[in-house]
Amino acid sequence: MEIITRRQAIDRKLTRYYSGIPCKRGHLSERYTINMACIECVKPSFGKENREQRWHENYMRKLSLNRMGKLKLAVRTENLQQVREMAYALSMAREPLLRPGDCLAHCEPQYRGPNTFLHAFKLFPEDFEVLTAYNNSLTGY
Ligand SMILES: [Zn+2]
Repeated sequence: MEIITRRQAIDRKLTRYYSGIPCKRGHLSERYTINMACIECVKPSFGKENREQRWHENYMRKLSLNRMGKLKLAVRTENLQQVREMAYALSMAREPLLRPGDCLAHCEPQYRGPNTFLHAFKLFPEDFEVLTAYNNSLTGY
């Protein structure tokens, strides 16, 4: 690596430069022209934070998934989309880290009457009652 000063890096419009002088942690690496920050010092801490963040998010998500249950409801076909959206909204309100797919229950709808099929929804048990009431209100019960 060519050794140049920060001044020269600015003149040459370079985003990074190599001074040949170790940083306070002893890294012999390039520095950002804009703030003289050592690239090695900035990089690992940023990556580590991301990894810890991701690990934490996944952990919280899995805890939620374990707590979620299946609710089976007889839903009229014309209401299915609305009930699905409500199930998703209720779950996301409790745990925003959930992904849309986490709130989907995969099951074959069973015939329950004219235009009405039994569908399973994945959500927190605390929301079972609300979703049931919502579905009933759509149906007119
Ligand atoms: Zn450093």
